[in-house]
Amino acid sequence: MKLKLLTTKKEAGDATSFVFEPDTPIEWRAGEYLHYTLPHDAPDDRGTERWFTISSAPLERKIMLTTRFFGDEASSFKKRLFAMKPGDTIEADGLEGDFVIGTSGRDYLFIAGGIGITPYRSMLLDLDGQGKEIKARLLYGNKDEDIVFKDELEEIAARHPDFRIEYFIGSQKIDGEAIQTAAEELSSPIYYVSGPEPMVEAFEEIFKDLGIPEENIRRDYFPGYAI
Ligand SMILES: Cc1cc2nc3c(=O)[nH]c(=O)nc-3n(C[C@H](O)[C@H](O)[C@H](O)COP(=O)(O)OP(=O)(O)OC[C@H]3O[C@@H](n4cnc5c(N)ncnc54)[C@H](O)[C@@H]3O)c2cc1C
Repeated sequence: MKLKLLTTKKEAGDATSFVFEPDTPIEWRAGEYLHYTLPHDAPDDRGTERWFTISSAPLERKIMLTTRFFGDEASSFKKRLFAMKPGDTIEADGLEGDFVIGTSGRDYLFIAGGIGITPYRSMLLDLDGQGKEIKARLLYGNKDEDIVFKDELEEIAARHPDFRIEYFIGSQKIDGEAIQTAAEELSSPIYYVSGPEPMVEAFEEIFKDLGIPEENIRRDYFPGYAI
């Protein structure tokens, strides 16, 4: 499938969203991801392929990916991606992912580390757009106050009194106590954790200590980012 770049949108900090029109109709579930191939001259050892969560909700119809850019330190893939102009195309395939919400209307405890917020934007817009009640807590850790999707997420929270967001900035850590406190306000929540691989792994011990059963945990690992 070819995706044509329609527009880019600067998000907070070093993050940008890329909005694409697919050349064939595609249906996805909020939280799924795509595999992208972007051939370019002199690729570095990370190569020409990446995976990105679809940060748009299905009801938005357009495919959006949201990622960070580190200027001169960026990979050759990111440099090529960020050089794309409206009308340029990128190849995408392999729609996949089990980091999704079911249809059963459960309570959710979402944990996001930085750009790991992307699947939650899709999920929350999806639930909100379908007029469903959202009973959830979002524990959102970020390196600084430049919080990606802050306004959009807070607009959703304003419409859903049982959906609340708690930010953890800089050295503030999302620890077992924070998770337990948030979970106490929910009824048998499903725990979702999404972010850089080392961060997601760091929650294993916490979940174990809290005695959260494996079947109630969903994980989304983003390789390629330091914690
Ligand atoms: C299923 C799945 C879904 C994913 N979804 C997303 C998504 O929605 N959004 C997304 O961005 N990624 C997502 N990823 C990760 C993505 O595929 C890339 O691995 C990631 O964006 C890193 O890109 P890069 O390798 O091109 O490195 P770059 O982002 O270009 O970074 C290059 C290197 O510089 C380091 N670096 C440089 N400066 C800094 C800095 N200031 N702070 C931190 N690190 C720095 C990085 O850690 C990295 O080692 C997903 C991965 C998977 C498997």
